[in-house]
Amino acid sequence: MTPSTPWVHQAIARIEADFCRSADTHLIALPLPGWAAHGIDFYLKDESTHPTGSLKHRLARSLFLYALCNGWVHEGTTIVEASSGSTAVSEAYFARLLGLPFIAVMPGTTSQEKLDQIAHYGGRCHFVEKACEVYAAAQALAKATGGHYMDQFTHAERATDWRGNNNIAQSMFEQMAHERHPVPRWIVVGAGTGGTSATIGRFLRYRRHASQLCVADPTGSVFSAYHRLRDSTLTAPGSRIEGIGRPRVEPSFIPSLIDRMVEVRDGDSLAAMHALSDLLGRRVGPSTGTNLVAMLELAQEMKARGESGALLSLLCDSGERYRQTYFDPAWALQRFGDTAPALAQVRAHLLG
Ligand SMILES: *Cc1c(COP(=O)(O)O)cnc(C)c1O
Repeated sequence: MTPSTPWVHQAIARIEADFCRSADTHLIALPLPGWAAHGIDFYLKDESTHPTGSLKHRLARSLFLYALCNGWVHEGTTIVEASSGSTAVSEAYFARLLGLPFIAVMPGTTSQEKLDQIAHYGGRCHFVEKACEVYAAAQALAKATGGHYMDQFTHAERATDWRGNNNIAQSMFEQMAHERHPVPRWIVVGAGTGGTSATIGRFLRYRRHASQLCVADPTGSVFSAYHRLRDSTLTAPGSRIEGIGRPRVEPSFIPSLIDRMVEVRDGDSLAAMHALSDLLGRRVGPSTGTNLVAMLELAQEMKARGESGALLSLLCDSGERYRQTYFDPAWALQRFGDTAPALAQVRAHLLG
């Protein structure tokens, strides 16, 4: 084993100091009086308030620490990542913190807002035509630069300390302590890498909580079929909801930890994104809409069975990142058609 250099020690210390300066994210209780009257409460953990604006801030911190402690990253190492956007923004932040060059490999369709943010943190972007090309292109680029391919899709499930140590699951349960249903009946998340669902699923079993874990999966993603069939060679067309749903089975997606998959149509995700943005008075991203659709489906089932309890999910990122895409009426109409009927339906469901 090569001993760690003073630079590696200092890099780890810098990330730890940055963590020490950061605050936990808020757990929002959704104001839904109709549902509350049935004894059903909705919560969203607001991951949009991290310095880099999404839940990927946690992942990027874990991936850098994992790579540094494995001896994969040294002074001057170019960091390369395959990312549709959010991970790249967060990794660019940590690369800059450590003074390392950063290159994100992504499809050319990634929103301009995200490209601007990556550039803001000093990162560079490398475009591929098809989403499925990002992995090989990132690997090749790392080789060519003598850099390190961070590989979020492989390492997300193992880089985070799932037993606790400030992971997202531990924080959720601490923040629920004074609620009328402190142990949620359902926790609902999306899956991009699958890292968030793996961390929460393991934590639930380790702490022997009664909560069940649901993954909200968008149209075109392979994860639902994989959960049903457990065939890792399956492929799918790919998702149109940024951040979640994948065309191939990612190594970090662990189906045995997930109790339930809910498939969500894109029009419903968009409608829920708008309805929730109105409810909160600020914009949320499309994957948060997907989460809300699954929460409402589970809540309807609870109500039909006469069950009470809490549903908890994530506000994954802010809608401000999608001003020129999902929130642009012309852009959305062209891709997803008329979502007005779906919006009316979501609004009705929110009444309880
Ligand atoms: C990555 C991402 C998710 C899913 O999280 P994973 O831990 O990668 O499965 C959900 N929403 C957004 C906006 C994301 O960027």
